[in-house]
Amino acid sequence: MKKCIKCGLPETYETLEFEENQICNICSQSEYASEKINWSARKSSLDNLIEKYRGKYEYDCIIPFSGGKDSTWTLYYLVKEYKIKPLVVQFDHGFMRPNLLKNNERTFNKLGVEVLKFKPNWKIVRRVMLESLLRKGDFCWHCHTGIFAFPMQIALKFNTPLVFWGEPSAEYTAYYDYRDDEIELVNEEKFNSYINLGITADDMSGMISDIEFDPRDLAPFQYPLERDLKKLGYHSVCLGSYIKWDTKKQSKIIMNELGWQGDQVEGMPDEKYNYEKIECWMQGVRDYLKYLKRGYSRVSQMTALDIRNNRISKEEAIDLVNKWEGARPHSLDIFLEYVRMTESEFNDLAMKLAVHPNSPDLNNNKKCIKPKDFSDWYRESN
Ligand SMILES: [Zn+2]
Repeated sequence: MKKCIKCGLPETYETLEFEENQICNICSQSEYASEKINWSARKSSLDNLIEKYRGKYEYDCIIPFSGGKDSTWTLYYLVKEYKIKPLVVQFDHGFMRPNLLKNNERTFNKLGVEVLKFKPNWKIVRRVMLESLLRKGDFCWHCHTGIFAFPMQIALKFNTPLVFWGEPSAEYTAYYDYRDDEIELVNEEKFNSYINLGITADDMSGMISDIEFDPRDLAPFQYPLERDLKKLGYHSVCLGSYIKWDTKKQSKIIMNELGWQGDQVEGMPDEKYNYEKIECWMQGVRDYLKYLKRGYSRVSQMTALDIRNNRISKEEAIDLVNKWEGARPHSLDIFLEYVRMTESEFNDLAMKLAVHPNSPDLNNNKKCIKPKDFSDWYRESN
């Protein structure tokens, strides 16, 4: 596969294009973000934005919160820097790990914030995971649509127009490009362009008609009407559009200040990247499926980011990728139980979904290290 000569991301990476000298667009836009964006002007516009909404609604803002490093940093930063009163909204995707739940409690208590937690119907979740896997090769539809749509419903219910997300998408992809030098809006257009994989809650309702359910069961995954959000005067943005995003530095700060703890994630070098994607015990399956389809997983993504920030050498990155990527996760057994599929059906599907020129090697015999909390993960079988 052709790879970016700077960061090593392959041609099968979503939104990646090669620009001059075989350097990718994500590298170029990240260079732009460091050198050309006027971050102090952006910070002043954040000051103004917060003052515009402060004290005028039920809450100063909504903060959608997974408990990962980015949303924890967002909550920490806004509360510490601006002393705002947020409503923290947490959509439970069903796979929240024990260490994450402890982190969350600690963070909420230390910061003194109000929290609304929502868990959708598991029977629906299980069925829609299978459906989105079969149709799109991605089983995370319920999580991504729920995490994006539900907090917007809450913004309407609590009459709170300002919504702060964390990391801007330009850190990893080029759906939005730093070089446009605009504030990325987190709106229905973004939701429909890649969050929901082209499947609305209404579409999904027709697709799973083989099971019995109440149509309202899919309401949490429905993006609110644009006219209702406009009437509210909503403003939904990423904190990372206003302050320069640095996940490594931010993770250190929340560890020191909030006692936030990293975790072992299947397929990841846990000493080096223990702060990345600790939210979900299905992360190993998501990354493994990506590896089968596209020939890379999260290790490539993390080392690419570190190369761009001059934190590791290209050689070290290549060693990490070779050592860790492509190992079979233990969570795959649990996942197959959830969706009632055999491993050979799963592998056949992955083969069909493989993105040219990647051709997956299903017999590499690499296995992930079993995470310490594995036995606590919910099993469908008992
Ligand atoms: Zn690159």
